[in-house]
Amino acid sequence: MERVDVAIIGGGPAGSSAARTAAEQDAEALVVEKGVPRADRDGLGPDSTDAAGMLDYWVDLMGYDPEEIPDEIILSELDGAEFNGPSESATIRDTGIDSSWDGFGFAFHRARFDDWLREEAEAAGANYRIGTSVSGVDTRFENGDPVHRVTLADGAELEADALVLADGPQRTVTIDALDQFMAPDRSVAEYIAPDTANHIAYQEHRRIPEELFDPDLIKFWWGVMPGHTAYPWIFPNDDNVARVGLTMPIGMDIDDVDDREEYTLLDPEDDQIPPGKVYLERLLDWQYPDYDLEDFPLVEDRGKRGGTEAYPISSTRPIDSPTYANVAVVGGAMGGTSAFHEGGDHVAVRTGKIAGRLAGTDALSRYNHEWRDALGDELLRNVTLAELARDMGPSDWDDTFRTTREMLDAEGSRYRQAAIAGLDGLSLLFRYKWLRRQLADGDYVQLHESEYAL
Ligand SMILES: Cc1cc2nc3c(=O)[nH]c(=O)nc-3n(C[C@H](O)[C@H](O)[C@H](O)COP(=O)(O)OP(=O)(O)OC[C@H]3O[C@@H](n4cnc5c(N)ncnc54)[C@H](O)[C@@H]3O)c2cc1C
Repeated sequence: MERVDVAIIGGGPAGSSAARTAAEQDAEALVVEKGVPRADRDGLGPDSTDAAGMLDYWVDLMGYDPEEIPDEIILSELDGAEFNGPSESATIRDTGIDSSWDGFGFAFHRARFDDWLREEAEAAGANYRIGTSVSGVDTRFENGDPVHRVTLADGAELEADALVLADGPQRTVTIDALDQFMAPDRSVAEYIAPDTANHIAYQEHRRIPEELFDPDLIKFWWGVMPGHTAYPWIFPNDDNVARVGLTMPIGMDIDDVDDREEYTLLDPEDDQIPPGKVYLERLLDWQYPDYDLEDFPLVEDRGKRGGTEAYPISSTRPIDSPTYANVAVVGGAMGGTSAFHEGGDHVAVRTGKIAGRLAGTDALSRYNHEWRDALGDELLRNVTLAELARDMGPSDWDDTFRTTREMLDAEGSRYRQAAIAGLDGLSLLFRYKWLRRQLADGDYVQLHESEYAL
């Protein structure tokens, strides 16, 4: 039977990054990627979630020098983000975190990004098997050492000393693979089941009329549709094309929504939560009342299919990995909440890089410690912000953005800014700090390594 040092399930940013660093340690690394067709890529590749924005300091978190990012990946250089409530807004021009990237960030071509990461991994010596899914993993221990048998949908099998689970938010392999190490009456699905821990994201590539197109700003609207961390966005790309998209919880019941009339994108006649397509039509109609939908034509040769795409997106806290079994869960598969969910591509790349390097040097036992060390502050901030937003309704979002704007307009320290913004500013700052402290002691991680039973 084929035997490799490190088997990596999934060839997205996390999987390719793991493959690269494992191969750089001279380990035999194999990526198994099911392979997805896309309108904008020749041949099968990873399921590139084409909604890609990178903030300045994320480049450092990924461990890249800005010079290393190929130009053809970048679609638009950003100089800020606009956060809108139903009637208030705040624009930030600075992430407030030191970084080596010059500028606020960039919007990028996700399929090209993924293909670049694959090229880097292959150049380091990693191998890819694309076009067949992994159907399961069976782990046994031989003389105390784990051996992972990976079964593919075409019936082929291979064995590996170390296993990196990089199958993204659907966790098609991760849940069963990890359940081998849970107590018999427990399952990691309690924490990361796709139908409860994930949101659905829908997006359309549309050409924006020249006079409306703003290439420098990513725009978000909060408190205009119901659901925790449910929001629409407009991301500028190149050539006057923008990705107009949204994310929302799966299976929400409109009868559970309080104060329905306060949500701008709900209609009084709605008898169920509208599909993403309808929400986006309403967003464009609301924002650009002098234009018709036909003025924003779909760009059908972009994205996954016909200029549109739907993806799952993780919206939960991260989990630890059972590293004593030589297993690391990375990227979207491990969860990690943020305004962009899953912690984003930077978390995928960095956790993948750490896992691959450690797996390639037989030191995977350090994985949980190292990813927390590298990304703990980022994930703690994201989880805290998601908690802060948990019960917020439309008017709370307006209050938050008004206060944030007043704080941004004031000069000086955060406390001075908060004081100038009045009681609302102080309460916002103190609520954030209080929540952050509650979660700081590792509680932003929802399943700790010690809870694995084996
Ligand atoms: C709509 C949307 C908007 C987003 N916006 C941003 C953003 O602006 N900025 C940002 O940084 N992040 C953003 N993200 C998040 C980002 O896309 C993820 O964090 C990132 O894709 C995670 O990378 P990953 O490698 O862990 O998983 P994925 O990219 O999901 O890759 C997992 C791979 O595993 C493969 N796979 C799954 N099951 C199997 C199997 N059984 N066998 C073989 N292969 C398998 C899949 O085909 C896929 O290629 C967004 C996500 C969505 C959905």
